[in-house]
Amino acid sequence: MIKKIDLPYPINALEPYYSAETLSIHYNILYAGYVDNTNKTEAKLQIARSTGNFENIKCLEKDLSFYGSGAILHQLFFENMGPAIPTSPSIELMNRINMDFGSYDTFKNQFTKASKAVEASGWGLLVWINNFNKLEILQCEKHQNLTLWGCTPLLVLDMWEHSYFLQYKANRQNYINAFWNIINWNIVNKRFNTIKLL
Ligand code: MN
Repeated sequence: MIKKIDLPYPINALEPYYSAETLSIHYNILYAGYVDNTNKTEAKLQIARSTGNFENIKCLEKDLSFYGSGAILHQLFFENMGPAIPTSPSIELMNRINMDFGSYDTFKNQFTKASKAVEASGWGLLVWINNFNKLEILQCEKHQNLTLWGCTPLLVLDMWEHSYFLQYKANRQNYINAFWNIINWNIVNKRFNTIKLL
């Protein structure tokens, strides 16, 4: 069983950049749905294993990827946001950003453009690729398509309409601009530090 994470701040803590109404629906209903459906899928897989009936295995594996990735990305998303108190990449992470993207501004520009250009529903992600020993920016479609295997997400931005439409309508750029104000870099730095221990 996977569990919902507790929201690490009050529901109105991201105002005015991310409204309490959007956050409430996003966290209480949509994210909860991904956690529930991941657990339901795991339970169905357990039944399949115990009965030896793998007739629906293709569907179950697909559900595991979709719901499981949805649960994980939402957890990362809620955790890598926080009240608009300025935080910044650690010196070590900033060095990597400079090394792999040229500059922080170039990284920010690529992350913004990549997120804005996500086709339909998906995410913008800053990831660490262990096999390449470098940072990359990825888009993903839905929650699980277009990844690079072995990537570890450091910073993620939900580009599904449910994450911005209520507040920003169809203006993805304004939503992304607002997001830069509520990134909790302390969490991103912590994720980056964990990676270097591997
Ligand atoms: Mn979402």
